[in-house]
Amino acid sequence: MTTATDIDILVSEVGPRDGLQSITPIMPLEAKKAWITAEAAAGVREIEVGSFVPASLLPQLADTAEVVAFARTIPGLTVAVLVPNLRGAQAAVQAGAHKITLPVSISETHSLKNLRRTHAQVLQEAREIGALIASLPAEQRPSFEGGLSTAFGCTLEGPIADSKLLEIAEALMEAGCDEVGLSDTTGYANPAQVKRLVRLVRGVVGDHALSGLHLHNTRGLGLANALAGLEVGITTLDASLAGLGGCPFAPGASGNIVTEDLVFMLEAMGLRTGIDVEALLAVRGILADAVPSEPLYGFTPDAGLPLGFA
Ligand code: ZN
Repeated sequence: MTTATDIDILVSEVGPRDGLQSITPIMPLEAKKAWITAEAAAGVREIEVGSFVPASLLPQLADTAEVVAFARTIPGLTVAVLVPNLRGAQAAVQAGAHKITLPVSISETHSLKNLRRTHAQVLQEAREIGALIASLPAEQRPSFEGGLSTAFGCTLEGPIADSKLLEIAEALMEAGCDEVGLSDTTGYANPAQVKRLVRLVRGVVGDHALSGLHLHNTRGLGLANALAGLEVGITTLDASLAGLGGCPFAPGASGNIVTEDLVFMLEAMGLRTGIDVEALLAVRGILADAVPSEPLYGFTPDAGLPLGFA
């Protein structure tokens, strides 16, 4: 996906999905609306607002259809959602999401444990989603991304074979995905690996079909990995406000990379994100009020902006 010409890097906020699904408290719908509204007002252009999974599995995201309907009313905002299967994609299309991502665990063990599906089964869902989208009038078609989960390593299988990653990436493109994204679901990635795998996957899907990285900060390498991605031409970076969600296995580590720190880094480097950092920092107050038991991460919010930063 190409970024708008007035920005260099698209920062995609995933906190309302990845952050909220990782915590126990359920954020009220009104707070989600306030959060999304405030981040969009700060200049964030794309927000993953939820996931179409059964409410019994993720009660935190049970109101995703309502969140999508609301977020669509915000001018200029790309409303993204995660879907686990065709049924989720149907719900996403009905709600009017602009972008849907189907995550596929490159580790089949992880896929079986999380989705109870083999690769063959997940790829069949992908083809059915591709067919669903192709059947829609052009103006109603969401963009369709295949998320290459556990691409950098798996907590169950360990290292992931390059051949498996490339096989799934190619199959997802054949199924009708517009692009694939690399996801460090487990926080295993390092900067050298980021560069290597971006180049490797692009060799199969083409440069245009891999523009984004989904990074976690489990081992403190999130921003280093983001920088490595920039150096090989990545233009979309997922992040979560206040690193919401944390990591149950690494106390003190944020969940996704922290949106505030990422935007500060990019803007300080002279890269345009379209985001007002001070306005973004103020959005944390909504999280503090809505889920007061959750730690809010981020170095920039604690340290403040450097003198003269504009
Ligand atoms: Zn994630």
